[in-house]
Amino acid sequence: MTVYDFERKPVKTRKKHWCVYCGDVIPAGADGAECESGFDEDGPFRRYACARCAPYLNEFWRWCDYCCENITDWFYGFMNECHPGWRRE
Ligand SMILES: [Zn+2]
Repeated sequence: MTVYDFERKPVKTRKKHWCVYCGDVIPAGADGAECESGFDEDGPFRRYACARCAPYLNEFWRWCDYCCENITDWFYGFMNECHPGWRRE
């Protein structure tokens, strides 16, 4: 999947979402979550990232050069390579 263009901004979620990076639940009203919207090969998308993943997203997309087959799998690979031990924080 190639991402052509997207923006990311902080959101206060009004309902429950799932983090597209780590797969965890983002509860309604959670602080620090971010919403990404834009276009990729499949068309427009909107997805959410939890507060724990949000600080790493720019680094992650540079790491995979904005091209990624499976966000969750690749994100875990990236974190284990570049930020080992992050799950224990
Ligand atoms: Zn997450």
